[in-house]
Amino acid sequence: MTPPPVDVDAPYAVVLGVAQDAGHPQAGCTRSCCAAAYDDPSRGHRVSSVGLVDGEHRVLLDATPDLTAQLHALSPTGRIDAILPTHGHIGHYTGLMYLGREAMGAAGVSVFAMPRMRALLTDHAPWSQLAALGQIVLQPLVAGQSVQVSPRLRVTPFLVPHRDEFTETVGFRVDGPSRSLAYVPDIDKWSKWDVAVEQLVASVDVALLDGTFFADGEISRDMAEVPHPFVVETLARFADDPSEVRARVHLIHLNHTNPLLDPTSEASAAVRAAGMRVAEEGDRHGL
Ligand SMILES: [Zn+2]
Ligand SMILES: [Zn+2]
Repeated sequence: MTPPPVDVDAPYAVVLGVAQDAGHPQAGCTRSCCAAAYDDPSRGHRVSSVGLVDGEHRVLLDATPDLTAQLHALSPTGRIDAILPTHGHIGHYTGLMYLGREAMGAAGVSVFAMPRMRALLTDHAPWSQLAALGQIVLQPLVAGQSVQVSPRLRVTPFLVPHRDEFTETVGFRVDGPSRSLAYVPDIDKWSKWDVAVEQLVASVDVALLDGTFFADGEISRDMAEVPHPFVVETLARFADDPSEVRARVHLIHLNHTNPLLDPTSEASAAVRAAGMRVAEEGDRHGL
């Protein structure tokens, strides 16, 4: 029997960064978690973002402070068709500044935004200038309604509970002709969500999920101020799920303190033992 033909032109997603909003190393950090990355930038990690490739079309989920390098990795010609920010925290939309007059001076890049995200971009400088000059063209996003972002890819936003001081927060489901992917970089706790995360994971082929902190006590600040599902909680929650479901989970949005940034750590070994993965820059997922 001949194997089915491989569609070499099939659309795909590519992980462009795995760190929390502030990146790795993080400004002001004098701890051992960032020392090696300050000494050797190749040991650092870019901020979480996912690129979508469909033929000539290029789409970004989140516009990070590392957008310059990430756009180059995604699109050597600099072409960018659409950007979809998940929410209004610094790691997820401030990369839009590179589309402006002081930088690439883009023209007509579609930015799909939820209502409060759209208001943040239209009502406040410097973001308001992007739309005023036509560098970006704001497109509406409605929770639960999919939008076509390229000829063969659709993206559906869904609301998740998060510190929503400035905007609502969404995760994205991406559907291609063959496969699907979910991207949920920020959420307070799985238990605060009216959707069972296991259901989300069971409904897609790959799920890039919030792995910000490995465990409680990881930072010296009150961690209730910055709630996220601890990775140890996520591992426990999925412990009884079938291995093929656990294998779809890729942890992303890792804080500079997170031992998962070191693949040789005991924490990384625990994730592998649980049948899950830590997302890595350059990971490709066919859609
Ligand atoms: Zn974030
Ligand atoms: Zn956030």
